[in-house]
Amino acid sequence: MNTPVITVTNLHKDFAGPTGGILPVLHDINFTLNEGEVVALLGKSGSGKSTLLRHVAGLLAPTSGTVHYRGAPVTGPNPGTAMLFQSFALMPWLTVQQNVELGLQARGISLIERRGRALQAIDMVGLDGFENAYPKELSGGMRQRVGFARALVVEPDVLLMDEPFSALDVLTAQTLRNELLALLAHPDTATRTVLLVTHSIEEAVQLADRILVLDTNPGTLKAELRVALPRPRDRRVRGFEALVE
Ligand code: ADP
Ligand code: MG
Repeated sequence: MNTPVITVTNLHKDFAGPTGGILPVLHDINFTLNEGEVVALLGKSGSGKSTLLRHVAGLLAPTSGTVHYRGAPVTGPNPGTAMLFQSFALMPWLTVQQNVELGLQARGISLIERRGRALQAIDMVGLDGFENAYPKELSGGMRQRVGFARALVVEPDVLLMDEPFSALDVLTAQTLRNELLALLAHPDTATRTVLLVTHSIEEAVQLADRILVLDTNPGTLKAELRVALPRPRDRRVRGFEALVE
C-alpha cells in the first residue's frame, strides 16, 4: 500500500524579480512522495528545483498551495526532513565529528547522545578514524560522506538531496551513488524516502523509482511535473570502489 509522506498540492511560488516585477518560478506543482520511494527531480538549471526542495524542507513558504508532511501542513522547518547539498556546506572550522553533531544540536539532544549517534553515523559512511579531521584535510568524496553522515544522523524520514554528486569527479560520484543505495538498503538506516534533485538523466535512472521533470517555459519559468522511467531492481554499478581513494 502506498503511504503518502509528502504531498504537494497546487503549489505556486513567485519571487520578486530583479527589476521589481514578479518572477513566477513554480506553477501549479502537484505530486506525492510515498514511503520508501526514491524520486528524482530533473530539470534545467533555473527551472526551480532547489526552490521546490526548499518548500518540502519548509524553508520557503509557498505563494499559494500547500505542502503536507504525513497529513499535517508544513508551516515552518519540516522536522521530518534533512537536506544534503551539492557544495557539502560543511563548517571548515569544525571537525568531522562536530559537523555531524550540528544536525543534532538544533534538535535539543543531549551531549552524550549526540556523541554516540555522530560516531555511529560517521562509521556508517565509512569515515571511522576521521572523527577529528577537518574538512580541508579530506577529499571531495570524503567531504560529501560527512554531508551524508550529518543528514542521516537525525534519522530523517525524508532525505532531500540537491545535486549531491555534481561537485565530485565521475568515479567518486559513482562510488557515492553506490554507497547511497547501500545505505538506503541498510537495516539500521531509518531513511527510506528520498527526493533527489539532479540534472543527470543517467543518475535519475540509476537511483530513482520515479522521475519528475520540472519544465521551464522561456520567460515564464512555468513548471510541470511528469512521471518517467521505473528503476531497474539492482542498480549498482560495481567496481568503482577499488578505483577511488
Ligand atoms: P534550479 O535549482 O532548478 O537551478 P532555482 O530553484 O535555484 O533553480 O531557481 C529558480 C529561479 O528562481 C531562478 O530564476 C532563480 O534566479 C530564482 N530564485 C531562486 N531563489 C530566489 C530568491 N530567493 N529570490 C529571487 N529569485 C530567486
Ligand atoms: Mg538548484
